[in-house]
Amino acid sequence: MGKHLVFVGGGHAHLAALLHLDRYVQRGHQVTLISSSAYHYYSGMGPGMLSGIYRPQEVRFHVKKLTQDRGGLFVEDRVVKIDPLNRSLILSTGEQVPYDVVSFNTGSEIPVASLIAGPLENVFPVKPVVNLFQARHSILKALPQNKLKFAIVGGGPAGVEIASNLWRLIAENNGKAQITLIGGKRLLGDFPEKVRTLVLKSFTKRGIEVIEGIYVKRIQKGTVVLSDVKSLAFDFAFIAMGIKPLPIFRDSGLPTGEDGGLLVNSYLQSVAHPGMLGGGDCISLSGRPLAKVGVYAVRQNPILLHNLLAALEGGGMQTFQPQKDYMLIFNMGDGRGILWKKTGYGMAGFLSF
Ligand SMILES: Cc1cc2nc3c(=O)[nH]c(=O)nc-3n(C[C@H](O)[C@H](O)[C@H](O)COP(=O)(O)OP(=O)(O)OC[C@H]3O[C@@H](n4cnc5c(N)ncnc54)[C@H](O)[C@@H]3O)c2cc1C
Repeated sequence: MGKHLVFVGGGHAHLAALLHLDRYVQRGHQVTLISSSAYHYYSGMGPGMLSGIYRPQEVRFHVKKLTQDRGGLFVEDRVVKIDPLNRSLILSTGEQVPYDVVSFNTGSEIPVASLIAGPLENVFPVKPVVNLFQARHSILKALPQNKLKFAIVGGGPAGVEIASNLWRLIAENNGKAQITLIGGKRLLGDFPEKVRTLVLKSFTKRGIEVIEGIYVKRIQKGTVVLSDVKSLAFDFAFIAMGIKPLPIFRDSGLPTGEDGGLLVNSYLQSVAHPGMLGGGDCISLSGRPLAKVGVYAVRQNPILLHNLLAALEGGGMQTFQPQKDYMLIFNMGDGRGILWKKTGYGMAGFLSF
């Protein structure tokens, strides 16, 4: 008899399984995707969507349509709790969804609660990525009136790409702006000095200011309060601090890694519940916690596609073997990228610009 396979989150690691969802359906299984949005945005192109290099329709997957066209059921909602003993998912509406096999790809969130008490006008966390499209819309509305002040909180790759692409958005729309990035202890502190120098050189040339050695204590309406007692006024602020998996796994009593991600073995399967799998930022790989970058999620696609069928019907599972290194290219918003791989670094022209 067919079983019920539930995907939670239509993120980067689920796309191959969703694309081939009819394979599960044709074998008599019922398939449901529960996701907080009908679209999934590819994060690597998010900063380019902010500046207008890409249009939203070039950056996103219509996961609702992908699911329904292949015979699955789509539910637009958030899973807020998991009851693994009764194999049930609790949604924000209170509805319960039973499952035989479940796969999580719910991503991560910016822990904004330490900085803001609740949503604030013109303050945009960089995840979910759709926020960047909403920010673009609000900025374009405000641009003709004044010289705008932008504050970016976070000195990692996301903060760098946001500052760079804001610069492009302003320049292409003949606006005036002061862009300030508050980089915490040190801009790109985890990267080699050469990468940092290339970014700082590019910023200096374009008048993007960087503040280092100072932390943001909190964000209030129009003001960033800094750890050195000074404050910085803004018209628009972006929060690009480190990301964390959602607390749903820990709150549901499931085994998690240190970061709160669902603890999985090399089959991407919960170490406690064989019918529970997952991929992307929301998992913590036992013995080898991975950086929260989309490249790992993308490479987990074929493993999940195969192992979910094995979890439904029995049979051997495939192991996920993460690559040792990965490459990042920072979209600098001026038609150039800064390419970094652990084995080297350098400037790269962006072919698609
Ligand atoms: C600005 C920016 C740029 C980045 N650029 C790069 C890059 O160039 N290269 C790179 O490798 N990484 C990049 N990253 C990191 C990258 O965002 C993550 O590693 C990647 O998004 C992880 O993919 P994911 O599928 O796990 O999660 P996500 O992409 O966040 O997808 C999660 C999905 O789950 C859904 N969801 C969330 N919560 C629930 C819930 N409770 N119930 C149901 N559904 C839910 C969401 O709607 C979403 O569709 C960037 C990040 C940012 C913020």
